[in-house]
Amino acid sequence: MDCLFCSIIKGEIPSTKVFENEWVYAFKDINPMAPVHVLAVPKVHISGADGITADNSSCVAKIFEAIPEIARISGLKNGYRVITNCGPDACQSVPHLHFHILGGTQLPDSLC
Ligand code: AMP
Ligand code: ZN
Repeated sequence: MDCLFCSIIKGEIPSTKVFENEWVYAFKDINPMAPVHVLAVPKVHISGADGITADNSSCVAKIFEAIPEIARISGLKNGYRVITNCGPDACQSVPHLHFHILGGTQLPDSLC
């Protein structure tokens, strides 16, 4: 299966790694929307938020356990935003579950 983020995790496509453990890979977004814009992804392929099941949801917990460390490494001392886009209405462009971690400035009001 051809998946951009699976290829990045395997090192077949270069990325700027921020954090890695057994379950999680985090790297800088290639098109940053804030001074800090990191993507945290599970090492297992899940298509997106609607691909999360009781069988694979533990990797989501692993990502959220890693996020404070990713924020610390990234120097996010004053807060940050975590976003996942799911499906066309949310403009998901890469069909591998990922969480955007955004910060390093005052972010605009969000929809929610
Ligand atoms: P989304 O639109 O929520 O699916 O987010 C996909 C994100 O992946 C976008 O913010 C892109 O800038 C980012 N992206 C796409 N290709 C790469 C890449 N090769 N390395 C790092 N980030 C990427
Ligand atoms: Zn994948």
